[in-house]
Amino acid sequence: MALRLYNTMSSQVEEFHPLRDNEVRMYSCGPTVYDYGHIGNFRTFIAVDMLQRFLRQSGYTVRYVMNITDVDDKIIRNAARDGVSVQQYTAKYEKAFLEDAAMISIEQPVLVRATEYIPQMADFVARLVEKEIAYRADDGSYYFRIAKFPRYGKLSKKDFGGMLDGARVEVDEYDKDSARDFALWKAPKPGEASWDTSIGPGRPGWHLECSVMSMQKLGESFDLHAGGEDLIFPHHENEIAQSESMTGKTLARFWFHVRFLLVEGEKMSKSLGNFYTLRDLVLKGHKPSSIRYLLTSVPYRNQLNFTFDGLKQAAVSVERLRNFRQRLSAGSFPAGSNPDIQGLAKETIERMRAALEDDLNTAQAQAAIFEMVRSANSALDSGQIKQDDARPLLTALEKFDEIFAVLNDDDGPKMKQVFDWARAEGREQDISAELRDAVQSGQLSDSEIEKKIAAMEAARRARNFKVSDALRAELTMADIVIENTKEGVRWRRK
Ligand code: AMP
Ligand code: ZN
Repeated sequence: MALRLYNTMSSQVEEFHPLRDNEVRMYSCGPTVYDYGHIGNFRTFIAVDMLQRFLRQSGYTVRYVMNITDVDDKIIRNAARDGVSVQQYTAKYEKAFLEDAAMISIEQPVLVRATEYIPQMADFVARLVEKEIAYRADDGSYYFRIAKFPRYGKLSKKDFGGMLDGARVEVDEYDKDSARDFALWKAPKPGEASWDTSIGPGRPGWHLECSVMSMQKLGESFDLHAGGEDLIFPHHENEIAQSESMTGKTLARFWFHVRFLLVEGEKMSKSLGNFYTLRDLVLKGHKPSSIRYLLTSVPYRNQLNFTFDGLKQAAVSVERLRNFRQRLSAGSFPAGSNPDIQGLAKETIERMRAALEDDLNTAQAQAAIFEMVRSANSALDSGQIKQDDARPLLTALEKFDEIFAVLNDDDGPKMKQVFDWARAEGREQDISAELRDAVQSGQLSDSEIEKKIAAMEAARRARNFKVSDALRAELTMADIVIENTKEGVRWRRK
């Protein structure tokens, strides 16, 4: 079977095949780096991360590009408020975004920054002006004339029949009734960052940034474009209008949109007090792996209601998986193999694949692995697991983790990083007792270290290199130095 994905453009689930051979070219709208990322942002980024992981697992080469929006209305406003340059302002939040993404095990895409493509953006506008699709306003801003793009609205399925030709909207984000000519390029305003370019001074509009950077990195037509559902209109509609009126080609074959996250049943908002950044949750003592697990547990098109009960449950689930792996890799079993267990592992791998191929049904994939864990644990309890059975079960776990990425026990050091950050930022009062405890007990005891080393060595002898490497990485993250000597493995704390 092939992967089937919902395509916002066709409003249908379709079979996914790349346009070119075996290579998938995909683009995701990335963060606007004006603040710390919240868990809604990370729901979307994790969903796209899982998609690209699954495409790779399916044998494709994936070229995954994400932009960093480092110039936009909000950034300029906040930088001016704080009296710093746009660059100084965004550097801090870009760094935070990258740290957070790594904390939550998002594999880093190819990153592009808006401010690195300003001349290309100005050229793009100049070419649209030549084609009489864009025009210059009196103040030196440039607008896209949507009357020149009759298919405007094809993604969001909005009917803009009665719109006013020439009515304009200057801001990057606006609500659905405003089908107006939108700003491609904004003339400088006093106190705002601007660039001198071939079309005059100013700065790009947000929509233009993504059109230009996606096509620069992936070509005029690529396989998939992703983002949260709020981006369908106007952002993605405008990207399509800009790019397709320029090239006459389809910008992206698939449009992949992630449903908005709710928190405790409500839309997340600062005024409701249910607005959480990733760091807020870690400050409360929650593990990054629990957060990732919870955010992966509902398929991307379904409503995910984030609750603290759900987060606790996610922590229990991750622990069960880790314990199971530990039990398998450290255990010694009688020689031979049990066909039932071999079948169970194989069937689980197939069930996970079938679930993910079904429009990334992550919930079903998790259900499949837990059924395996349950059956295999009872087989372990009753001594029915043989030497040759550990490997296939571990392989099923590895396949699962290639997508879900929660098995490596590196929560302790990651939590320590948030702890250190909070102290450096003078936010000591935000560190919960739970985080303090976790950081203190995150220091592995001698016997825990010895147990991990024994499991690592056992895995190495059984040629389970993925497991042994993972254990070694965990120990290194915990600042344990491991040396192989003639007398065996020695360790010390850094
Ligand atoms: P921003 O940094 O606001 O440009 O958003 C970055 C990404 O997060 C975009 O793809 C948004 O659509 C997405 N996003 C923002 N809020 C949420 C939310 N509550 N749930 C899911 N995705 C979101
Ligand atoms: Zn974008």
